[in-house]
Formats: sequence, structure tokens, C-alpha cells
Amino acid sequence: MWNLAHSRSRFYVDCMRPEENFWKTLFTEADKLHLVSDAKYAEFLSWKPRQSNCPELEQVAKRLTDLAPIEWRATMKNIFVARAFKGDVNAEASSFRSAGIIELNYGLTTAAMIYSSLFCQFYDSIWTTAKEVDFTNENLDDITQMILDEISRSAVEPILVAEQSTRTWAKERNVYVIHPLLAELPSRRKDEDYHKLVTATEMFVVAHEFCHHLIGHTADYFRHAPKVKTMVGEWLTRIDAEDTLSGLNKSQIAEVESDVGAFLLLSGAFSNNISLPRIYSAVCGSMLALVSLAHVNDTWTSTAEGSHPDFLVRYDLIARMIREVSMEIPLSKDGHPVGFLIQFRGFISAILQAWISNGKGEIQMPNFLDIFSWMIDLEAEFKEEHQLYNQD
Ligand SMILES: [Zn+2]
Repeated sequence: MWNLAHSRSRFYVDCMRPEENFWKTLFTEADKLHLVSDAKYAEFLSWKPRQSNCPELEQVAKRLTDLAPIEWRATMKNIFVARAFKGDVNAEASSFRSAGIIELNYGLTTAAMIYSSLFCQFYDSIWTTAKEVDFTNENLDDITQMILDEISRSAVEPILVAEQSTRTWAKERNVYVIHPLLAELPSRRKDEDYHKLVTATEMFVVAHEFCHHLIGHTADYFRHAPKVKTMVGEWLTRIDAEDTLSGLNKSQIAEVESDVGAFLLLSGAFSNNISLPRIYSAVCGSMLALVSLAHVNDTWTSTAEGSHPDFLVRYDLIARMIREVSMEIPLSKDGHPVGFLIQFRGFISAILQAWISNGKGEIQMPNFLDIFSWMIDLEAEFKEEHQLYNQD
């Protein structure tokens, strides 16, 4: 069985550091000793690790534990959740005799920050377009055209810049070099919204790693593991995942189980506590996490023999989960989880087009207006489908 004190000391022994705040380790390793000795940061840096080496992740672990059924909580509380800055830009769950550990690489968080900022820009462009462009006028006049060009530039250009920096990221194994375009938040967007997106992304990634432990992928200590695996299996049946699963290897199936488990945990489904805000947070956390992972590891498509399924497989299954948990939620003027998913589909399609067209001249760069009108079609289709579904 895992024991928190053992989990924590195992992590620190492995990384050969005293039990201290992650930020202190980071500043020290980066030779920023003036920050370590600055009185301004003294209180923050002297924070004592308990379940995590980082104050923010300790909160993430607590929130996830609160979302789980009561009988899982004692086990979750004994797992140490760490921010790490060495190794692959990824996240992992590991288990030793009495130590359960989750590690989240800081490079992945940096990628999540970049994608959260890109999504804010894309989302704002959609709203501007919806409000300011009159599509009933067949011959768009010059001013409308100028607005569209500007929107297209602000929505798509940062995505192109992000795409072009992938190679540097992959080579240097870090994502610290940020183009000014990527660091800039749209003016209307509050910092708070952006932080919510980053936190939701980290919550999904940590929830995914918790699920590796809880489903029994890392060890067979957890008494309820067979039950968790069965619950995840039932949802995989509900979304007709058999065909997809039959094409995956054992390790890839474990990844899919943890993805679905993470989505169920975040949306409150595991503890029969589904709510609209939780579903929204699960939608944006899962989408931004899958995009960030695919980007830093370049796993958008075709990794048949890899340990993880490619982005398209993981995205498709989560998209089906989003529909499955929210089809009965009424449409309202404030939106619907599937509407939110459609916005991510547009965003992801722009990213994928940028990825495909990078360095290969014959494929078109993403065009914002095409993506926007495609999203309007998807919305209309969904409204019809939703009506039919809720009729019978
Ligand atoms: Zn995994």
C-alpha cells in the first residue's frame, strides 16, 4: 500500500534534492540565486511540501480527491504529485512498494500556457466575427473584408508561429522560448480566465495519471481497481469504442482507459456529481491537454507501435464522451458543452492545418473564414440532432 511520507521521500531521493518547494529547486538549478535569497519570496519559497512539491499542484490533487468517490480518497491522498523539470516533456505515474508518485513535467505546463493563450485569441476572434461581420451581405464590402483580414491574422498567425517553433521545442526539450505573439493575451480576456484554462489542463493531466494508479495499471494495491476498470469499460461500451480499441496495443488501451477515467473524474461522473461547470472544465482541460501533448511530442497522427495512441484517436474518444455526458442538457443562450467542443474542433483544425502545411507548400494554410463557417454548419447540425435525441 502507498504511504504519503514514503511517496514523498522516494520522489526527493530520486531527484536528489531536499524536501523543498519546486520553485526553489527550479531557481537554484537555473542559477537564479538572487531570487532564492530575495526577502520578497522568502515566505513562498519556504512553503513545506506535503502531497506535492508545488503549492498549485497540491490544490489540484485536493480538488481531484474531492471529486472522487469517498472510498477512493484515502488511496489518492497517499500519492505524491510532483512538478518535475527533467526527463521527457510528459507526465507519468510510477509505483514502488510503498510509494505512489505522479510527475508532471514543467515543459508540458509551459505548452499548456501557450495553447491556453492561443485558444483565448481564437475564441475572441469567433466572438468578434459573430458580432461584427454581416454575412447576409453577399458582396462583403471593403470594411468587412478588412475586419475579416484582421481577425484571420489574430486568430491564425499565432498558431502558425507556435507550429514553427515545434522543432526548437523538440530539440531543446524545453518550451521556454516564447514568441511575443504567443505570450500576448487578447485585451478583453482576463488573466483569471487564462489561469482557469491552464489549471483545467493540469487537472486533466494529473487526473489521467491518478487513473493509471486507480485502474491498476501501475500496481494492484488499490482494492477498488477492478471496479474502476469496469466503470470505465461501461463508458467505453456506451460510446461504441470497440472498433477503435481493437486496433490498439495493450499499453495504448491503458492510455485510453486513463483518458476516459480522467474525463469521468473531472466531470463529476465517478461520484454521481455531474454539473455543467465541471463538464465545461473537463471539456477544456481534456482538449488543451491532448493538444499540448501532441504538440510537444509530435504525435498528431500514426504512432501504431508507440506506447500512446495518436492525437486523433484520443481526441475522437473524448469528443464522444463529451456528447455522451451532455446530450440531455438543454440548449441555452449561454451555450452547451457540445457547442464548446465545436469551438475546440475549429481551433484544432486550424492547428492541424498549420502542422500539415508547415514546410509543405502545396497544402493551404488555415483560413479563418473557412473554419468559422464550418463551425456554424456543425452547430446547426448539432441543434437538429439534439432536438431529435430529446424528442423520444
Ligand atoms: Zn498515460
